[in-house]
Amino acid sequence: MADGLHTRYMRASDAWRTHRKGCEPCRSGQHCRDGAALHRLFADLQNDYLRHLRTR
Ligand SMILES: [Zn+2]
Repeated sequence: MADGLHTRYMRASDAWRTHRKGCEPCRSGQHCRDGAALHRLFADLQNDYLRHLRTR
């Protein structure tokens, strides 16, 4: 369970970072359409993951 969440979190983090590296608007803080979706997924999973750590 925890590994699954962590894996998804890492994957979302990688996807977001990789996108941001090649995307000028996202680097300057103005998320493009794809970037906004990737960032939201990353932020959601990060919240879940941090909440999971805190409640353990
Ligand atoms: Zn972007």
